[in-house]
Amino acid sequence: SVVDRLAAATHGSVPFSVEFSPPRDQAGEDRLWRTVRAFEQMHPAFVSMTYGAGGSTRDRTVRVTGDLADSTTLVPVAHLTAVGHSVAELRSMVGAYADRGIANILVLRGDPPGDPLGPWEKHPDGVEYAEDLVRLVKDLGDFHVGVASFPGGHHRSPSLDDDTRFLVGKLRAGADYSITQMFWDVEDYLRLRDRVSAFDPEQGAKPIIPEIMPITSLRSIDRAVELSGSELPAAVRARLAAAAGTGEEDRAAVRAVGIELATEMGERLIAEGAPGLHFITLNFAKATSEVVANLGLARPAPAMTGSATGVESA
Ligand code: FAD
Repeated sequence: SVVDRLAAATHGSVPFSVEFSPPRDQAGEDRLWRTVRAFEQMHPAFVSMTYGAGGSTRDRTVRVTGDLADSTTLVPVAHLTAVGHSVAELRSMVGAYADRGIANILVLRGDPPGDPLGPWEKHPDGVEYAEDLVRLVKDLGDFHVGVASFPGGHHRSPSLDDDTRFLVGKLRAGADYSITQMFWDVEDYLRLRDRVSAFDPEQGAKPIIPEIMPITSLRSIDRAVELSGSELPAAVRARLAAAAGTGEEDRAAVRAVGIELATEMGERLIAEGAPGLHFITLNFAKATSEVVANLGLARPAPAMTGSATGVESA
């Protein structure tokens, strides 16, 4: 399980893990597999596979995560969202994961299709909250379940105290750990950890895995941040904007600052005792592997050193 993998890796070094997304076409699939093979040599604690917005990738998520379970040495975690699905469909999804040998599921509610920040409507025969889906999955078998946590609070939570209560509810319902939304201020992560421990020390002992997104482009990060309902702090944005320059974005300079920012966050999180670092990769290996190497968590895979890498940059 994810928790076992985190515990096994803590002898001297903090484990890292990576997030992939289901590829859209054959070219994307080929790239994903090159990236998977590169990471495989760096021994991440686990790898997770997202579930497309509004449940749009369900068959692909099952297929590709199952292929990871069958054909790699990696521990795959499949994301599952409640949005747009009846309870019967959710049960059959969990069954499909089990059939493909996937025991680790990251349970999420998902966002409304169309406008992710728009009003949430439960499927008439579905579930209202991720907490309900945690119970459903745990009732179906011996699954290892993770949930989402939000260092700045989820944008729909009325207050940070409510947000903490809801997260603890998901943990009490049977989740073993949480992975945070990407964030930029380590203090927010530390405060989240403190809030959960103060609210319920037993649940506070469960790992809260911080998620880091190495920024490689100013334009794409603005969009990603907007969709997540979080905010890029002015100081971080200013540092990236200075690198981008005026006129056409200086991608190489932005990327260098993005790697620096992710490395600085990683250093601080490790010093603060984070149980692991989870990286959003967008199915590219290079940026994350640079940060991981900077942090001394793994050596970059041989395929990524030298000039003719065969692995696209990101
Ligand atoms: P919930 O925990 O159900 O919370 C949703 C809202 O309801 C929150 O405002 C919460 O405060 C409130 N709430 C929760 N419980 C209660 C309660 N008992 N009573 C009253 N209010 C309550 N989305 C995807 O579509 N696919 C993915 O693969 C995906 N992966 C993600 C991975 C990570 C690590 C993270 C952090 C997010 C991911 N998301 C993904 C986004 C996620 O689906 C959204 O952030 C969504 O808006 C919230 O999901 P949740 O599971 O936290 O929902």
